[in-house]
Amino acid sequence: MLAAEAKGVDLQSPVGGGEVQNPQDLTVDDFVIDEQSELVERCPAGHVPASSTQDSQTGTTVTVMPAEVCDGCEFRAMCPVVRRRRGYVLCHTAAQRRSAARRAEQQTDAFRESYRIRAGEESLNSGLKRKTGMGRLRTRGLARMRMGVLLRCAGWNVLQAVVAIKRRARAAAASLAALLAAMKRCTAGMLVHTIAFRRSTPPPTRSAPPAPAELAAA
Ligand code: SF4
Repeated sequence: MLAAEAKGVDLQSPVGGGEVQNPQDLTVDDFVIDEQSELVERCPAGHVPASSTQDSQTGTTVTVMPAEVCDGCEFRAMCPVVRRRRGYVLCHTAAQRRSAARRAEQQTDAFRESYRIRAGEESLNSGLKRKTGMGRLRTRGLARMRMGVLLRCAGWNVLQAVVAIKRRARAAAASLAALLAAMKRCTAGMLVHTIAFRRSTPPPTRSAPPAPAELAAA
């Protein structure tokens, strides 16, 4: 990660082995820490530690907060400091601080948005490994390996094309079925209206034929 940053590369990778914790809890990332010396300058509530020293052998920084400050702090239940004889103590390493910072970053919308791109790529890699056996090529030599990879990619593309065709065919069939159902409903409605109209309209009256006497007089 540090090597990538030095080269100007923003690695988008979730932190492995995530600690399960309450989202409300404070972490070492909430402390103000000098990234060069790893010494704590202020706690999340803005208080200055009684001491903050780093063991150069283990790389662990031990920070002691005054007991009287932490005892009356409203964030005490959420704070990672631990009660000791000399006060409230926080131990951290540079790696723990970076991991905590990355876990906090992972909760942001900006991270989720940019990670979505990688997630899509990862599903492609996973599919290639699982369905084409890309994860375990049984050939040796660069030329054969390259050919094996290219053939698997070609096979994957054919597979995806078939999936796309099937998906479009299903969508077209669903549209046609919806259209037929709509036409059927329309026809049934027209039939109902026609029957109702005929029932509500009286039959045409016919004039009675002339009597035989009237015909003889004419
Ligand atoms: S409990 Fe102590 S170290 Fe934690 S935020 Fe409060 S004052 Fe700071």
